[in-house]
Amino acid sequence: MKWVEKMGYVITIDGPAASGKSSVSRELSKKLGIPWVSTGAFYRGLAYVAQQMKTDLDNPIALSELCFSKTWKIVMTTEKTQVWFDGVDVTDKTSHEDVGNIASKISHFPEVRQSLLDHQRNCAVENQGLIAEGRDCGTVVFPLAEAKIYLTARSEDRASRRAQELGLDKDVLKAQQKQRDIQDSTRKVAPMQVPAEALVVDTSELTLEQVVQKAYDFSWPKVQR
Ligand code: C5P
Repeated sequence: MKWVEKMGYVITIDGPAASGKSSVSRELSKKLGIPWVSTGAFYRGLAYVAQQMKTDLDNPIALSELCFSKTWKIVMTTEKTQVWFDGVDVTDKTSHEDVGNIASKISHFPEVRQSLLDHQRNCAVENQGLIAEGRDCGTVVFPLAEAKIYLTARSEDRASRRAQELGLDKDVLKAQQKQRDIQDSTRKVAPMQVPAEALVVDTSELTLEQVVQKAYDFSWPKVQR
């Protein structure tokens, strides 16, 4: 595994939809002074562009070919992971729950996952250290990460958070997230699961600051080694 030798330390944060992965990664990134990436942004970007280009969403080969077209750019800023396609920043278009649902549908294709894997790993190689959040970051993308965290929360709370963020109906979001979590955790390739040795944090009763502090206390001693 050549890429492993070139990487700095990696912290992974996995968990179901709207469990707080991005918010925690953003704050932990500021505290530790290392960049963070949302691997979900890769799947969302592909889902959005595929839909716009009328790519057959049931055709893994066509979707992989779209991944390898030269015009993609991932930009890690302190606030979010931007996705650029053909010189256009499409990030804001990808935040809708319906794009998340398409992302979840196409992410079960092994061909699609394989096409995105090296790009995700390169984020660690290029930055000599990374916080990566998603579904399979601790199990597949960075199995040798120094620190692995898994966030969870009651489905009611997760739906409320996202409803506030997006200004949408909580019950509709709850149903959509449930369906997405089932798809993501039952797929054959790289299902969402708790990585071995991960710190599991139920964020339902905690403030963002409390969760970030737990993540920091857990990961800081490991990345210092
Ligand atoms: O995290 P986010 O909600 O942006 O992810 C959107 C979708 O992308 C997830 O529901 C999942 O299907 C897919 N995904 C994945 N593996 C990752 C990150 C996201 O399959 N590492």
